[in-house]
Amino acid sequence: FESLLTFHHQMEAVSHIAAGVAHELRNPLSVIKGFLQLSQLTDGFSKYYDTIMSELNRMNGIIEDFLSVSRKKIERKAQSPKKIMDSLTEIIKSECLLHNVSFEIDLQPTSKMVYVNESMIKQVILNLLRNSIEAFGDAKIDRLFRVQAIPKEHEYVLTVEDNGKGMTKEVLAQLGKPFFTTKDRGTGIGIPLCKKIIEDHNGTFQIESERYKGTKVTIRLPFSS
Ligand code: ADP
Ligand code: MG
Repeated sequence: FESLLTFHHQMEAVSHIAAGVAHELRNPLSVIKGFLQLSQLTDGFSKYYDTIMSELNRMNGIIEDFLSVSRKKIERKAQSPKKIMDSLTEIIKSECLLHNVSFEIDLQPTSKMVYVNESMIKQVILNLLRNSIEAFGDAKIDRLFRVQAIPKEHEYVLTVEDNGKGMTKEVLAQLGKPFFTTKDRGTGIGIPLCKKIIEDHNGTFQIESERYKGTKVTIRLPFSS
């Protein structure tokens, strides 16, 4: 009986997740389909290329996030944290340029290593970047995205900040709950996933935010000895 109950709960979790994935992927898929149909009716593909590409990227991000949530074992290696962050610089720059966001990237060098799964750490930063870009909305402000990395004695401290719309106390209180989102097209797994990945790396993940001021995420990753 007990194992049946467990199985029932597991299937419930599976169906919740499956419904989430299916739902989230249906939107970008129908956008892509519509634009492809349009491009066939009218003067060609190039006009719709950017939209189709960005929807495909969106789908890819959603699939990556859901896959990572379900990943049991993560492979880690000793890596230079500065190198990982350096290799993210190009994509941060190009996303910011694309969305009219100014950026400051300050990565201080260290010879120490962190013991990480590189692609998962990158996934965390890219999720935070995506959230920041989405937090600017249409507000007429000088949008700023800032990444700072400071090596301390025992840990690498990464801060990711934006001056977007910030969060209310109510939103902050819900933050981190799986599937919590305030967006029409949100999945609500970005932040829980980031927190899980960092905690799986024995690090800490902390968010401060003020409505209409902005949001600051602090990640602390221990150096490997
Ligand atoms: P999603 O982005 O799919 O909504 P997340 O887990 O990434 O899911 O974020 C959950 C919610 O937290 C968002 O819907 C938003 O309300 C809030 N949030 C996250 N990051 C930011 C940010 N940088 N600025 C303002 N609100 C944020
Ligand atoms: Mg998100």
